[in-house]
Amino acid sequence: MSASLPPAVTDLQKELSRLPGIGKKSALRLALNLLKRDRDEAVALARAIVDVKDKVKVCSNCGFLSDRDPCPICTDFKRDASTVCVVETPGDVIAMEKGSIFHGKYHVLGGVLAPLDGIGVDDLRIRELSERVEREGIKEVIVATNPTPEGEQTAFYLAKLLGSQGVTVSRIARGIPVGSDLEHADDLTLTRALEGRGKL
Ligand code: ZN
Repeated sequence: MSASLPPAVTDLQKELSRLPGIGKKSALRLALNLLKRDRDEAVALARAIVDVKDKVKVCSNCGFLSDRDPCPICTDFKRDASTVCVVETPGDVIAMEKGSIFHGKYHVLGGVLAPLDGIGVDDLRIRELSERVEREGIKEVIVATNPTPEGEQTAFYLAKLLGSQGVTVSRIARGIPVGSDLEHADDLTLTRALEGRGKL
């Protein structure tokens, strides 16, 4: 009989390897590392994982993450409700908010159209965006998807869809270097990208 690791270790390895970017080998390395830590530390990690599932809500209006639904951005009456910035992820909202450059509202798509990966219109929060345009009297939608082919394709799709609803659809300028993304742009780059936006 060959030696094998206890099931608790291989179970943890299996769970960790489900995470993006974690292969079987890294998962085992992480599992063994966790095994070496204090029990308190392991419990804190486990609790943090459960908390993120139990306490974080996806805003039913914009798709941002918060402990409330609707989120504080959607309920902030001081923000300009006529302008909505469309981004791919909740992290992109944080990036846009960093420099306090944008004072409108947001809409998180939850990704971009990627037909080759099987991600279509119904997999993103596109219908919700279209409904918001109808409901909230939005005048301009600024598409700030990343400058990848999928990001561009998504922007183009939104321009066609929302343009027919009578709203101005613009695209942030190419201040964001191709291949890089919103999350890594600095304040000045973001300001330029936003100010230099063009109609789609
Ligand atoms: Zn919201």
